Amino acid sequence: MVVLDAAHGGDDTGGKLSDGQLEKAFNLALSVRLRSLLAARGIQVVTTRESDATVDSVRRAQIANHAIAQACLSLHASETGSGVHLFVSSLAPAQPSRFAAWKTAQAAWVTRSLALAGDLNSALLHASLSVTLGRTSLPAVESMACPAVAVEVAPEAQLSSAPGQPPTAGLDDPAYQARVAEALAAALLEWRSDAARTDADPTDFARPDTPRTEDRNP
Ligand SMILES: [Zn+2]
Repeated sequence: MVVLDAAHGGDDTGGKLSDGQLEKAFNLALSVRLRSLLAARGIQVVTTRESDATVDSVRRAQIANHAIAQACLSLHASETGSGVHLFVSSLAPAQPSRFAAWKTAQAAWVTRSLALAGDLNSALLHASLSVTLGRTSLPAVESMACPAVAVEVAPEAQLSSAPGQPPTAGLDDPAYQARVAEALAAALLEWRSDAARTDADPTDFARPDTPRTEDRNP
């Protein structure tokens, strides 16, 4: 189960993108594209919005927590910077407690969220996309009790602009949008198989902040 959270919507337009598009529309289009890629691979998807609707951060977290998601991606776009920015909550990792406080629930999941960001990073790099990793305060994510990463798509980095090559791909480039969505879908498939391995390991207690075992023999 994956939750796709197309950030902004309704009165909250998000940023303005260079082609005149509003960030809220870009985020929704990416959510729709990613949902169909995941559905085609047998991954269940719940979305926080399916239209240009206002959804506050409390409602977004409620949707994610009700879904008992294995991953939540909060989708953003920006003209600032380049490539894909991945943000994990800046809350300090905490032990899970029976009654997680609202607005700090994510603290018990930060370690898993960092692992999810690692899978996303690998898949994006594999698709020759540049990635920036960061930690920040994320209002919608802070109350989510699941691995959650904010994904902010910026224009493609100028990695190898040979003469005659287009220097960058803008956010309005359909091929670039498709590459980003495919890489995110590939990362979530990898995440699912990692989770299956972790679940199958009897020595791995099902604490939400248990780090993934990375050094297992193949
Ligand atoms: Zn945004």
